[in-house]
Amino acid sequence: MDELEALSRFDTDLDGVAASAEGAAIAARTLDLTELALRADLVAADVRRRRGHLADAGSTAQAVQRWATEHQARFLLARSHHLLAAVFQELGDLSQALEHAVHSVDLLDADVPVELRIDHRKRLADCLGLQGDAGAQDRYAEVLVLAEQLGDVGRLSQILNNSAYTASLAGLHETAQAAVARLQALSAEHGLTTDLATTDTVGRVLMGLGRLDDAEEALRPGLDPAVLDGSRDGDAGADFLLTHAEVQRARGRLDEARASLQECIRRCEEHGLTSIRIRARREEAALHADAGDFEAAYAEHVRYADAALALQSEQRDARARTLQAMYEATEARQQSRRYRELSLRDALTGLYNRRHLDEQLPGLLAAAAGRRPVSVGLVDLDHFKRINDTCSHEVGDEVLRQVARVLEAVASTVGEEAFAARMGGEEFLLVMPGTDIDRATAVLEQLRHGIAHKQWDHLVGALPVTVSIGAAVSPDPLPLDTPELLGRADARLYVAKRTGRDRVIGPRDALTPRATG
Ligand code: GH3
Ligand code: MG
Ligand code: MG
Repeated sequence: MDELEALSRFDTDLDGVAASAEGAAIAARTLDLTELALRADLVAADVRRRRGHLADAGSTAQAVQRWATEHQARFLLARSHHLLAAVFQELGDLSQALEHAVHSVDLLDADVPVELRIDHRKRLADCLGLQGDAGAQDRYAEVLVLAEQLGDVGRLSQILNNSAYTASLAGLHETAQAAVARLQALSAEHGLTTDLATTDTVGRVLMGLGRLDDAEEALRPGLDPAVLDGSRDGDAGADFLLTHAEVQRARGRLDEARASLQECIRRCEEHGLTSIRIRARREEAALHADAGDFEAAYAEHVRYADAALALQSEQRDARARTLQAMYEATEARQQSRRYRELSLRDALTGLYNRRHLDEQLPGLLAAAAGRRPVSVGLVDLDHFKRINDTCSHEVGDEVLRQVARVLEAVASTVGEEAFAARMGGEEFLLVMPGTDIDRATAVLEQLRHGIAHKQWDHLVGALPVTVSIGAAVSPDPLPLDTPELLGRADARLYVAKRTGRDRVIGPRDALTPRATG
């Protein structure tokens, strides 16, 4: 297992690793060595991740993480965080990626193989670097020293590549150029073949330095379909194509730029590559502008700005939580509380977010168990897609903000402890501690009525804006935990939708709609 885990992704035959890991997992299970088996599962899952099966790899990592938490298996926990960091990074959720990367480093003891110390720290540097955090460069420098001591050429070239790439993302062109120079010297010395990611990095750094013809020259080998589709990166060549489009546009070759960009976007959509897709939007806008189509450029830029904003607020959350994890010192406590507050709010509506809920609700339910009821209403906008489609996403956002204001107003009438949270998308939760189900249902009915009769026509014209609500309470009659409570609210929301929408369904209204079984 030590050997399998320490294999560098650079010089690795994926099929071989997958086969060894699966063999090891079976052998370990046969011997009842669960922890070893799960370590092997993580290695196999990492291979699947590299082949683009992110969700699959992620769910294995989460399952391993649950076991590791339960059994206080510190090393295994570090390894599962390490894999989850990569999964979230590729999904474009840098906030989650950074959180996992921080844990994966914190939990790794000093006596583990140095390869793993390099890998975990390098991924943390990657997560910081992808957010444009200049502090990433110090971390790369740290792991470069370790890799040099080890004489590990594969890891050295990976670190230099990522350092160059993120430095150029952060606008540190000199740092990037220095890393590229070292990388090229290393490749020459050891006769390394250049992979697509490195080609991309070199092209991007040269572009950053304004050397457009050199950049074009450096990128050309990557356009070979054998190279482009043979890429082992999770991004399926999309990043490379975006760089190519940018270089072509900078050189005034708009048709070539457009062709690369279209292929990039197609790959983003096929593989769910959020952050590259967002950068592609900005490039699309720039292309429209260079072609003189300013109307299209503006429209695309708005879409880019919205998407980037959503991602940014996630990133701000990540920094907040990282700070919180890193600084326990008293002098930092004051500031970290402020960051923490920020990280518990939804960027669009300013309501509490799902994270806050996940932190608060279990405690509220436990404290109330048996004696004091806690009621909730799960609120989902009806046919919200229609509003987005008929009007625009911007109008949709404004509707969500206004619904959030109504929810806040209702929460404040219920009592000091009541609050509203955005669960995600167009779904909200009103939490009412100390409120019994009859009063809660009445409040929710007011909420429903208030939204349905609000003035919306200046925003959405003749379209109705209504909500369906599922209400639930604990105890009912026995104390419920969070998943049970939300599960009941969700089942009733489903009934509300099925029976015509624009209504509140509570415990007294309906049985669950699904057939038993
Ligand atoms: P139903 O009444 O059955 O719930 O239909 P619905 O269209 O409301 O539900 P569905 O889940 O099909 O669609 C929800 C839509 O909400 C899809 C998604 O594009 C949109 N949405 C999610 N989050 C946001 C957001 O932050 N802003 C905007 N404008 N739309 C969002
Ligand atoms: Mg809906
Ligand atoms: Mg919904």
